[in-house]
Amino acid sequence: MSWNEPRFGEQEKRNLTGVIDSGQLFYHGGQMTSRLRERACSWFGSSHVAFMSSGTAAIHCAIGALGLEPGVEVITPPITDMGTVIGPLYQNLVPVFADVDPHTYNIDASTIASKITGNTGAIIVVHLAGNPARMGPILDLATSRGIPVIEDCAQAYGAAIDGKKVGTLGIAGCYSLNAFKHVSCGDGGFVITGDKVLHEKVANFADKAYDRAGTGDRLGQLAPCYRITELQSAVALAQFEKLDAIVKRRRELGDRFNKGIHGIEGIHPHHVDDGHACSYWFTMFRVDPGRFDRDELAAALAFEGVPSSAGYIKQPLYLEPVFARKSFFPGSRWPAEVLAGKSFSYQAGDCPVAEAILATSIKIAIDETRTVDDIDAWIAKVKLVAREIAG
Ligand SMILES: *Cc1c(COP(=O)(O)O)cnc(C)c1O
Repeated sequence: MSWNEPRFGEQEKRNLTGVIDSGQLFYHGGQMTSRLRERACSWFGSSHVAFMSSGTAAIHCAIGALGLEPGVEVITPPITDMGTVIGPLYQNLVPVFADVDPHTYNIDASTIASKITGNTGAIIVVHLAGNPARMGPILDLATSRGIPVIEDCAQAYGAAIDGKKVGTLGIAGCYSLNAFKHVSCGDGGFVITGDKVLHEKVANFADKAYDRAGTGDRLGQLAPCYRITELQSAVALAQFEKLDAIVKRRRELGDRFNKGIHGIEGIHPHHVDDGHACSYWFTMFRVDPGRFDRDELAAALAFEGVPSSAGYIKQPLYLEPVFARKSFFPGSRWPAEVLAGKSFSYQAGDCPVAEAILATSIKIAIDETRTVDDIDAWIAKVKLVAREIAG
């Protein structure tokens, strides 16, 4: 495919026209959502998938389907999108932030282990920027403690470990179709799982517990309305046809960039483990703060035309006002604390490695519209600018 074509093209239009002509925009019983489910199952080699209105909704449905008691703890990384923890918070669960590896920026078994308590109900692993977290040891640890692992794959389409796609390794994998992800339908999300019962619960949770699948548990619990529409499914179905090419291209460019900046003094490329295939939602290297002023280097690179910016999110999630003030349900004491019978706190220093990463990293925006020549030019600029401004 040509990367000069618009992101949404003729196939998206044909699918949308098909939906309009069908007279049905509702997902249940709709042609497009049903075709999209089949397409996603075959792409992942997974047996079940449920589509919903966003990636945040996907995570909420996966965690909601576990039926954890309020006040239970959920371990998750602090360098991620707020969407990772919104669902757990609405379920009155307690996000517990584990620190991350200094070079993959992901949580791993050792950082998770120190956060497990008798009250841990789930682990949500995030494959940040499309770089797979070390799932083998994480799953060994979690299984030995009987803790389910949900994968937040919103940034990780096509990322894989030893050829197995992320999202198929834990009990459920959650994806986003928002405007910024590898593929998009404006907004949307889905949960893949190999567990039929869990799938039915997830699908039911996304649709007010109306039991569209007819399992016999209609309105048996409280559940939000996170339905996708046929219009979104029409666009998502067309986007899935481009996914392999997008992933392949991003991987080629991202791996090339990381290899190219290897060995520059004071610069640490984004680390991808052997056997791990990264799908580069972005890449982000770190600098030695003694050698470079991070902000100065990021600005100098941007001036030279490299799509660089200082850090990823401004600060770890736990330093955002909503956590620092615990204003999850403003005007009320945090119900999770009342139910857990103890208080929790979020403060600077909770995850020192994550804080250091966000203070010393430079994010490079890699996407499929870039060329090998672009990447080689960026590598040359990083070498040049690093030499010029090293302190
Ligand atoms: C994008 C994203 C989400 C949320 O997805 P939405 O579709 O925007 O709700 C969750 N987690 C991560 C890591 C993301 O990047």
